[in-house]
Amino acid sequence: MEKFCPQITRCPFFNGADPRLRDVFAGTYCLCAYWECQRYQLKENGQKVPRHLLPHGGYWKERPPEFR
Ligand code: SF4
Repeated sequence: MEKFCPQITRCPFFNGADPRLRDVFAGTYCLCAYWECQRYQLKENGQKVPRHLLPHGGYWKERPPEFR
């Protein structure tokens, strides 16, 4: 199994979120156990990924940073 998430180059969260927020999750999901990421699982199942979904299944509780 690959170490990094196969979606890492095109994931809006990894590439567009505030770096401080991204770094909270990257070590646990994006660069490690990506198969446990809720975003990854939805995408792999062909389902729509909510814009503000976080890897652990939570959501931003405040206005999120704009994605690039
Ligand atoms: S683990 Fe989740 S948040 Fe991280 S790059 Fe993959 S799909 Fe995006």
